[in-house]
Amino acid sequence: MTDHPSQPIAFKAETHQLLDILIHSLYTEREIFLRELISNASDALTRLDFELLTNRDLLDPDLPLAIRVIPDPQQGTLTIEDTGIGMTSAELIENLGTIAHSGARAFFQAVKESGKSAADLIGQFGVGFYSAFMVAEWIRVTSRSYRLDASAASWYCTGADTYTIEPAERAQRGTTVVIKLKEEAAEFLEERRLSEIIRKHSDFVPYPIYLAGQEEQINRQTALWRQPPRQVEQQDYDEFYQQLTLDFEPPLAHLHLVVDAPVQMYALLYIPVKAERGIFGLRKEDGLKLYARKVLIQEYNRDLLPEYLWFVQGIVDSEDIPLNVSRESVQASRVIAQLKKLITSKTIETLKKLGQDDPDKYARFWEEYSHFIKQGVAIEQIEPEALYPLLRFHTTVETARWLSLDEYVQAMPPDQEQIYYILGDDERSVLYSPHLDPVRKRSYAVLLMTDPLDSFMLTRLKEYAGHPILNIASAEFEPLALDEPEQAAPALAPDESATLIERFKSHLGDRLSDVRMTDRLSDSPARLVDPAGAPQQELQRVYRLLNRELEVPKKVLELNPRHPILLHLSSLPAGDPRLPLVIEQVYEDALLIEGLHPDPASMIERIQKLIEAAIQPPVETRPDD
Ligand code: ADP
Repeated sequence: MTDHPSQPIAFKAETHQLLDILIHSLYTEREIFLRELISNASDALTRLDFELLTNRDLLDPDLPLAIRVIPDPQQGTLTIEDTGIGMTSAELIENLGTIAHSGARAFFQAVKESGKSAADLIGQFGVGFYSAFMVAEWIRVTSRSYRLDASAASWYCTGADTYTIEPAERAQRGTTVVIKLKEEAAEFLEERRLSEIIRKHSDFVPYPIYLAGQEEQINRQTALWRQPPRQVEQQDYDEFYQQLTLDFEPPLAHLHLVVDAPVQMYALLYIPVKAERGIFGLRKEDGLKLYARKVLIQEYNRDLLPEYLWFVQGIVDSEDIPLNVSRESVQASRVIAQLKKLITSKTIETLKKLGQDDPDKYARFWEEYSHFIKQGVAIEQIEPEALYPLLRFHTTVETARWLSLDEYVQAMPPDQEQIYYILGDDERSVLYSPHLDPVRKRSYAVLLMTDPLDSFMLTRLKEYAGHPILNIASAEFEPLALDEPEQAAPALAPDESATLIERFKSHLGDRLSDVRMTDRLSDSPARLVDPAGAPQQELQRVYRLLNRELEVPKKVLELNPRHPILLHLSSLPAGDPRLPLVIEQVYEDALLIEGLHPDPASMIERIQKLIEAAIQPPVETRPDD
């Protein structure tokens, strides 16, 4: 194998660096090279399978689709052979001479950027063909393309700076990768070791894998999704998921569907623990794997689920998808629409059930995926109500546990007709809101809506189980009757109220559209509300979220005629220097709690003056003595 007549071709610089890393630092995980080569072989077979759907005019159309792994202890070589799509000599150069196409580039990047050792990363990473250099002295790839006019070619490389390419003899379609193993990699000549590795990493590869000359296949090759669900163990589901995604963590939930009508379908779907795909995951895009009669039609199909459920991973296989389709026409097909409807409703059902059966697990789901579901409520055209049972909220009463709307409704006191919510910027500060005064003492819970997406969702979510869902802060909100102690408490007389309102108006001027008294407050001195006819708060927030301008009229300041601050304020003589300070502070407190204060720190100077006034030693004589 030493004399190579053809001209050696240099690797791109990057490839060379990568080879160095692989060769020198990946010892512990080096068995994964076999997974990578088998996965390449499997991809080549899948591509051929797809070609066969529409084209019989290719090399060896009847050659069985399989992968064979052949150790040769005498020669010290390991061969991985497939009957897949093959490569022409130009494709060999294109595919194996650069790392442009390969997971290797991303891997290389991750090693550089994460600062982790390559060995730590490789276990979760597809690094492709080059990983074979961990165990190889040299590698020869001989391939023959499925195209009738192509001839066989051979690529040879020692892992040094160059490789060579030359014409070769190969009668049949497919690819043979021969690896001359390094001495210290002799374990990969043992059949027992090889079958162990194949079962561990490649059990669900969808083509048979044979060892040496044996007739019995090593991998299970199960289209697990085609098994009757009763016969599949939890562990099988988890292993399948692992091999599908290379996710480290088992999924939160799975659903396995075998359906005959209105469409025939097998589906095996998973909810990953994390919404974000890790950079080490195998799946590179959103979408489900779509098979028609076991043939992979599309690696990432996004027509089978609405966008807000694209985090779902898995496989859909239907006998009803016509085989002679192009990938493009899959989209438009009526079968796909039926499948989508089915898969969507079953996914929602599964999540709903998870919420009932395992609230803790569902809480993890909710914390990870709430944005998707809320978005779904806002945009779903067909039956958004189906998503309502998936929603969870914190409330003024339960600030740490996620409550469903059902739980909220069940806990409503008999006199409560409506579901209330409050909008705010964060859960802790919204609890101090003056808008909550009327319900605080009545043990009505109020849903806390502090996620920017909540306002979006609320443009749709208006009613649940016959109960209107209302913003507790909305000005039109009916005041709840005062309870007895509140009625008995001293209050400003009408003329005092009028004078005080004048004082506020003349001091705050055109910063407000109006000042008035209200019966809705108890613990708080004042609150800000929108004047009648203003755009709803939810809408204002949606605009804020979209970064769009919305003309919002000036607020109305409502005052509590029973609050001690205002009672005292009313009794101060005109011209008292504390008067403007207190008016200004009451107003700015209200701004702050609404999340509208532009510069809270600016209040400190005034607060200090107020403290100073408050702790002045008592005056000897009272003004009206
Ligand atoms: P990746 O598989 O991540 O694209 P690799 O470095 O493993 O990266 O392979 C590079 C390319 O070489 C593949 O994308 C494929 O086009 C081609 N290739 C590798 N192995 C085979 C094979 N057994 N048969 C056909 N093509 C192959």
